[in-house]
Amino acid sequence: MPATQIAQGLYVVKGKFVDDFGFIKSYLFIHNDEIAVIDPGTAGHPGEELLNSIEQLGYSPRQNVVAIVLTHGHPDHAGGVARLKKATGAPVMIHEGDAPILEEPGRFIKERLLLDAAGRLAMKVDRTPLRVNYRGIKPDRLLKHGDDLRIGGTSFRVISTRGHSAGHCVFYSPRLHALFSGDEVNNYPNDARKFFVDLSGSLSARSVALKSLSKLTIEYLLPAHDTFHLFEDIGLQFTGALAGIEEFQDAVLQVINAREEADVQQIAFDIIQGRGVLIPTGHHALLPTTISVALRNLTEAGLLREHEGVWTAV
Ligand SMILES: [Zn+2]
Repeated sequence: MPATQIAQGLYVVKGKFVDDFGFIKSYLFIHNDEIAVIDPGTAGHPGEELLNSIEQLGYSPRQNVVAIVLTHGHPDHAGGVARLKKATGAPVMIHEGDAPILEEPGRFIKERLLLDAAGRLAMKVDRTPLRVNYRGIKPDRLLKHGDDLRIGGTSFRVISTRGHSAGHCVFYSPRLHALFSGDEVNNYPNDARKFFVDLSGSLSARSVALKSLSKLTIEYLLPAHDTFHLFEDIGLQFTGALAGIEEFQDAVLQVINAREEADVQQIAFDIIQGRGVLIPTGHHALLPTTISVALRNLTEAGLLREHEGVWTAV
């Protein structure tokens, strides 16, 4: 499928449909013959589609693509970077917080997900978009909070959000009122409350970032999963995302209060058994990983205490 135009110079290229994750999305921004690719997708999808789309729009991948920009380094968005770089020669840009997993994809499994030995083994034959059997690549530019990214004269402000992962950034254009929101908003289709954060992420940082992003004038909200959102629909996505964090933390606290004490696996078990699971459970690592980050944040906030992997209320 070719690129779909969202607004002048703004295109979305749809990747493969993968269960919980919905369709993974890549974006093209084109201005004055300069093209930025935002989040190239997995090693396989959209892959060639991106290059075909650029050609169908009348441009040359090698001559017109001036930037490959990543909201973060997760395999479902960074897997296609090395191939795209080879085809375009364009510089690859990511925040330093996620550069290590871009350079060495295997570190995503080792450092970013809560996995036991069996889980790590399962990831070796993983068929989901989180598989890491692709070539790593060194970024050409490390993005910093407040950087001004210029594509054909249009400015994109780099905003470090640090919620979904330590290196997560979003890109905002004050001229277009467009926000490339990566996985920080609409991490999953259908329900803005659903999310996961990796072990380097933070629920409290995500909450702060979402509150400040919700104050921007946004007419085009462009997440890396799910469909894009336009105009009045956008406020609802932020309200939903913030409610999702609150509900998830409440669910964790409720389990600990009911059990008096609990470890990560017990909390995951109870949350799955209970109603309203906010984290899709199609991938075995995501719920325990997010619980683990929530426990760290709630402990830092003085609400929980940890002793040898068991949490109790303070
Ligand atoms: Zn992600």
